[in-house]
Amino acid sequence: MARIVMKFGGTSMAGIERIRNVAARVKREVEAGNEVAVVVSAMAGETDRLVQFCREASPLYDAREYDVVVASGEQVTSGLLAITLQAMGVKARSWLGWQLPIRTSDAHASARISTIDAETLGTAMSAGEVAVIPGFQGISEEGRVSTLGRGGSDTSAVAVAAAMKADRCDIYTDVDGVYTTDPRIVPRARKLARVTYEEMLELASVGAKVLQTRSVGLAMKEKVRVRVLSSFDDTRDEDGYRGTLIVGEDEIEDNGMERQLITGIAHDKNEAKVTLVAVPDRPGAVATIFTPLAEASINVDMIVQNVSHGTGSTDVTFTVPKAELARALDVLEKEKPTIGFGSVTHDTNIAKISVVGVGMRSHAGVAAQMFKSLADRGINIQAITTSEIKVSVIIEGDYTELAVRVLHTAYGLDAEDEAA
Ligand code: ADP
Ligand code: ASP
Ligand code: MG
Repeated sequence: MARIVMKFGGTSMAGIERIRNVAARVKREVEAGNEVAVVVSAMAGETDRLVQFCREASPLYDAREYDVVVASGEQVTSGLLAITLQAMGVKARSWLGWQLPIRTSDAHASARISTIDAETLGTAMSAGEVAVIPGFQGISEEGRVSTLGRGGSDTSAVAVAAAMKADRCDIYTDVDGVYTTDPRIVPRARKLARVTYEEMLELASVGAKVLQTRSVGLAMKEKVRVRVLSSFDDTRDEDGYRGTLIVGEDEIEDNGMERQLITGIAHDKNEAKVTLVAVPDRPGAVATIFTPLAEASINVDMIVQNVSHGTGSTDVTFTVPKAELARALDVLEKEKPTIGFGSVTHDTNIAKISVVGVGMRSHAGVAAQMFKSLADRGINIQAITTSEIKVSVIIEGDYTELAVRVLHTAYGLDAEDEAA
């Protein structure tokens, strides 16, 4: 007997037929003698629809009320799955975030999980009852409904697995594992049998939305065994495995020189670029820009500051999530007298393209190859950042697919036998 957490994403939960398919999979695990907790997402498209309602109601909405609205999608699917399981003769009940409870910070719309009551869940599960838990939601320190940020059901699942000391956490989604890049963009992407926590963390943080970044960080910290697999396709590879296992670096076979330099490529179209023109070029100037943005909980990603040309002023460019652009511009406008910039421009037609791989640590030239491959296709680079195992660039949004394909080929990641 094992204790397992199964998480089903939006596509897997979209409609009663698919919920029946999910219930059948859960039933199979229960009949195999396992104790099961299931974490579910809202039906595909539902959270987007709810977010849009909030935006229409007011672009500068109250995040606490936004959470009340967007958390509702998972309430619906958790109840529906519990009903479906019961109809199949499986004991099940739903546990909403506030009922368990899943306690979180007060950072509405991007709350962090602090604790999960393992005792209540443990008692229910030991009694043979499947616990159906809506992902994405919790209860804040103030006792209000909170959500964990988009894609947060993955984090709910890993957190439940950690709290329950589960033997594994299976993330069922609409692809059969983690690929070298989004298989919907590059048909020649290859499935990875294993990927390290560290690489997955970087890939997720730069846009490979197959797992929410925080779920990977949490899994790494709590040593949760995470597997990504399809809820529609049961195909096993030649070794009898399904999906992709996220593992520690010691569990990856070291093929030495043969090891791929680059593990994966990701893209992110959810950022917007903001440029402040003519910012005074003096100590403390950038602090006056980024401190108020941080206080407003706006996540700034890339930052580029140009040299001044003897005019005593410089331009500062940075990126923020598109969803936070309106608030960021509002904060900057309010702070204009303190910052003292000339004007502000923004661009939402951008994309961030990143290449990730631990092989970069020991090999030079990864970035240079990226820049050259993009240049050969006439793709202009607007900003660059690097970390030990990652290089990211900002380019014009219209070139996203082309850039990902070109780099996938350039780093030798294309599958050989599949039709492109
Ligand atoms: P779910 O609703 O199950 O959480 P998501 O849409 O959040 O599913 O994540 C799955 C999607 O992630 C896939 O449909 C795929 O398009 C996308 N994706 C992006 N990068 C990758 C990658 N490297 N490997 C696999 N899927 C990826
Ligand atoms: N439903 C939420 C979202 O779409 C959470 C999730 O599916 O992981 O972001
Ligand atoms: Mg997801």
